[in-house]
Amino acid sequence: MVSTEYERRIAARFATFDQDGNGWIDREDFSAAAKALLAEFAVTARSDKGQALYVGAEAFWQGMAGIADRDGDQRITREEFVTGAVKRLRDNPDRFAEIARPFLHAALALADTDADGRITVSGAARVLRALRVPADLAEAAATALDTDGDGEVDEREIVPAFARYFTVPE
Ligand code: CA
Ligand code: CA
Ligand code: CA
Repeated sequence: MVSTEYERRIAARFATFDQDGNGWIDREDFSAAAKALLAEFAVTARSDKGQALYVGAEAFWQGMAGIADRDGDQRITREEFVTGAVKRLRDNPDRFAEIARPFLHAALALADTDADGRITVSGAARVLRALRVPADLAEAAATALDTDGDGEVDEREIVPAFARYFTVPE
């Protein structure tokens, strides 16, 4: 039973990671996210961009498991997420940014078709929708990512925003 605003927000963060919705976070969720992004942008897994995304997804999973999988069963349960990940990420948002950065960098490269290191707000929304963020939320979140309001989103905006999103204040 989700009762408080804090718990509701935690549940939403958990659902973002639990891409297949089976109730725990594991390596499959990260590879599913990579696969969905590659399909959305019609990039093959064997391409350089595809390989970078899978390497980033694996590093992200390893980092999250190192923080949160306390019993070492290669699954992060909701309880491990709440008691491990959320608290430790809140205590150390920079660490979280480092864990997520290779994946975010590779995801940005998929959408960055002219390779100038920046994507449009609608491109960012497309990335978020591919990661199963509901369409209306994806638009709002992508707009919020563009912190300097120039209509484009770059890595300096994405990585800290992502860390902020997951470091939920109590
Ligand atoms: Ca899962
Ligand atoms: Ca576990
Ligand atoms: Ca911007």
